[in-house]
Amino acid sequence: MSRALQGSYEDQAVNARASEISSQATLLATQIANEGYLDNTSSNQFSTQLNWLSNLYDGRVMLIDDRFQIVEDTYDLDEGRTILSSEVIRSFKGELVTTYDSGARYIEIALPISQGDSGTTLGVMLVSVSTDSIMRTLNNMRLVFLAVQVIIGVLIVLFGILLSGRLLRPLRKLTKSINDVQSGYVSEFTTVRRYTETEMISDACEKLLDRMQTLDSSRQEFVSNVSHELKTPLTSMKVLADSLNGQEDVPIELYKEFMHDIGEEIDRENKIINDLLSLVKMDKSVSSMNIEMLNINELLETIMKRLKPIAKKANVELVLESFRPVTAEVDEVKLTLAFSNLIENGIKYNKPEGYVHVSLNADYKNFYVTVEDSGIGIPQDAQAHIFERFYRADKSHSREIGGTGLGLSIARSAVIMHRGAIKVHSMEGEGTTFTVRIPLNYIES
Ligand code: ADP
Repeated sequence: MSRALQGSYEDQAVNARASEISSQATLLATQIANEGYLDNTSSNQFSTQLNWLSNLYDGRVMLIDDRFQIVEDTYDLDEGRTILSSEVIRSFKGELVTTYDSGARYIEIALPISQGDSGTTLGVMLVSVSTDSIMRTLNNMRLVFLAVQVIIGVLIVLFGILLSGRLLRPLRKLTKSINDVQSGYVSEFTTVRRYTETEMISDACEKLLDRMQTLDSSRQEFVSNVSHELKTPLTSMKVLADSLNGQEDVPIELYKEFMHDIGEEIDRENKIINDLLSLVKMDKSVSSMNIEMLNINELLETIMKRLKPIAKKANVELVLESFRPVTAEVDEVKLTLAFSNLIENGIKYNKPEGYVHVSLNADYKNFYVTVEDSGIGIPQDAQAHIFERFYRADKSHSREIGGTGLGLSIARSAVIMHRGAIKVHSMEGEGTTFTVRIPLNYIES
């Protein structure tokens, strides 16, 4: 803005000065022409007026005749010399030529001295004036502008500091609130609703805190469940051992019976530990996935073959129905564990003469495995919990048949690690169907 104002002032001042001088000079030129002064400058008739013009504008006035000779010069330097500048020549043709040299700081005006009636150009009056006074004003203006700029700059910086302090206050409050929760002073997060953004961050933090608290409580619950589960077989063993120790002359048969029971409790403890280890492996990061292209039909056949003896013992029919050949990118160990658990449950929670039907199908994106049994079914209210760790729908029955309550959570973890899904559909007393969907191509996150 300051530059534009300075430029416009300079233009205006130069134009005003030029038109003022040219009107004075035109007046003088008309008189010079009328008096025929150019032919006889020795009379010095106009010298005073020319000098007055020259002094008034701090400049120089020269009169040039029709032979391009300087006949009068207010500086008395170049009289008698010839001048052939383009401005003078253009002026001879009747033009008023104004030139401004901002570097050398002068305005030059060349105007024709022409006779009033005929219009013939007798000579040229060349006036050059210094623009120092304009430049002085311009410099003063520059100083004022600079001062104003500096003051405005300082004010903007001060205003910026003040404003940013005010604007950042809610963010500071938010940071303090996060730090307080993080250091454990408070368990509740303070929501800052000043801006939409702080409200969004607050909400996100609250959700994060909720999730962390859920994780924490589920971890605590898990630890207490683990301790409880591991303690149960130990307590049984302790009772059995104590009762043997507390009796005199125990018959060898009783010893054998109790030792057999103790052996069973050790097996149970072993199974719980093995299941826990499998679960821990599932909880590890995705990098622990060992993905390879596998024939799923063969995988299911192998699992079924391994489970056949258990099914036979429970008098349950085991059938595999493959609708098409399926190959997919999966982790063999984890998926085997998942399907084994599902099929084993189908056998365990079945009725004599019952069946477990396993089917395999696929579309262009996923493959689907269903495990359908004709067993005891799962009560409606228990269905939402069966995938939780250590959850058993029928505690005594599950324990009786050697369940740990970990099988389905292992299966679900394995399926989720493949970015798949597992669903249950069950009718109490009629049977249960588990449906597993797994992408044919492993999707890395
Ligand atoms: P468990 O080791 O007790 O079998 P799971 O995690 O495999 O543990 O299963 C959790 C509970 O879900 C079981 O205790 C059982 O009550 C119920 N359940 C699982 N599968 C079936 C099924 N096919 N039929 C009926 N109940 C089932």
